[in-house]
Amino acid sequence: MSHLEVRNLSKRYGDFTALGDISLDIAEGEFVCFLGPSGCGKTTLLRAIAGLDPQSSGTIHQKGRDISALPPSKRDFGIVFQSYALFPNLTVVDNVGYGLVSRREGKAAVGRRVTELLTLVGLPDAGPKYPAQLSGGQQQRVALARALATSPGLLLLDEPLSALDARVRLRLRHEIKALQRTLGVTTIMVTHDQEEALTMADRIVVMNQGAIEQVGTPQEIYRRPATAFVADFVGSMNFLAGTLVAPDKVKVDGFTFDCTAQDGLAPGAKVALCIRPEDVRVRDLPTDIANRVAVEVAELDFVGAFCRATLKVQGTADVAMTADFSSNLIRDLGVELGRKLDVALPPDRLRVFAA
Ligand code: ATP
Repeated sequence: MSHLEVRNLSKRYGDFTALGDISLDIAEGEFVCFLGPSGCGKTTLLRAIAGLDPQSSGTIHQKGRDISALPPSKRDFGIVFQSYALFPNLTVVDNVGYGLVSRREGKAAVGRRVTELLTLVGLPDAGPKYPAQLSGGQQQRVALARALATSPGLLLLDEPLSALDARVRLRLRHEIKALQRTLGVTTIMVTHDQEEALTMADRIVVMNQGAIEQVGTPQEIYRRPATAFVADFVGSMNFLAGTLVAPDKVKVDGFTFDCTAQDGLAPGAKVALCIRPEDVRVRDLPTDIANRVAVEVAELDFVGAFCRATLKVQGTADVAMTADFSSNLIRDLGVELGRKLDVALPPDRLRVFAA
């Protein structure tokens, strides 16, 4: 069942269209990430859903109820901002209990709920403290507890981790995901961090210039990017400029590569042939393997867990791609600058996009 239905939503600021005709369904209990570069409209979409910045046109239904014209106070959500936005003059207990007190809940019930929430976010003893006495990660946990206090049907997270340092961010990623799973609360998180989206989301909505490029599970988005933008924005990708010469063949500077049949593109179309660096096959190539090319190692970058090599394709003017080599492979194959070797581009790992 859908928790949220967004239909034909647009947001204009004067002549500028920040969101153009967005439609999206979010299922009950789902964790969805809005992912995209700065300015793509993800915060605008989140704020429209909250009613903080109403849409110019279009509708939003929550659990079948039309909330399109309701003020934030009449909508059912809790929200966490990047900047924590805690009340500095209130203790943690009063921050977390704020929404419940506004609802005129009894003192004992508020006390019990606040204790429960602070335990849930791992801060059972922080109650008497003020926000300034807490670290950034602790403040964000308090903000999370405050957002969940009234047991909202929808949790909205606006870049909640981006102000935190890397280690805290990593830990909170797991904690928020675990909490969301335990509570089963429908959650939307805005992020520009692809790793965050890939690790946390059930589904990712990739946005670009006020429009949705693709909606899919992290695996779908990574493995089968629907557009060149998604292929480029999520993960690393090689783009080789070529021409489609048959439904399942792309010619790149004299080499013809087999790929899966391309329905939407006519032969003769200028295309980009794409492959991820980790999908370039670099060892144990059978003699009859498809898409074998001779390459020369032109650059070798140590990235920690592996080395990323830039490979110049022999017999071409300037066709090059990157490929990943584990340290074992580097040793076994004797990979070094100038080394010549054969690699293969598995047809099922190739993606083709109109150029
Ligand atoms: P970021 O990650 O940088 O926050 P975003 O994807 O969340 O980016 P939005 O904040 O949604 O982007 O903004 C989308 C576009 O709308 C941007 O080009 C922004 O400049 C524009 N915009 C946002 N708010 C306003 C406003 N109040 N008036 C005019 N333009 C606005």
